[in-house]
Amino acid sequence: MTRIALIAHDDEKPEMIDLAQSYEATLSEFDLVGTGTTSKRIMAETDLTVERKESGPMGGDTQIGAEVAEGRMDGIVFLRDPLTAQPHEPDISALLRICDVHDVPLATTRASAEYILEGLAQDRADD
Ligand code: PGA
Repeated sequence: MTRIALIAHDDEKPEMIDLAQSYEATLSEFDLVGTGTTSKRIMAETDLTVERKESGPMGGDTQIGAEVAEGRMDGIVFLRDPLTAQPHEPDISALLRICDVHDVPLATTRASAEYILEGLAQDRADD
């Protein structure tokens, strides 16, 4: 099954909720995983089920990066706050890097996230 990770920094959580609601039908066909608070918020505000990892600052990005390294992840939507330094910046950089290493598509904006979700949905339909 197509497996994707959803991560949003605090400033971007409303955008992530809006994206999840707009793409709820598409996302319901995917296996979803996310960082702690992002997952919790998505599950509270949609009917989606998201496998909850640790919160980002507690290692959630690292857990998701490990799945990328294991070849288990098909795509990542990571809505980052470009203006606020995050305490777990090294973990974030590591996640971006491991996605580059394994050629896993990673979107950091709403528009690119929509392309990834639509592309993965299309791949699923073609299978
Ligand atoms: P959170 O983590 O979903 O637990 O807030 C996101 C992050 O800051 O990486």
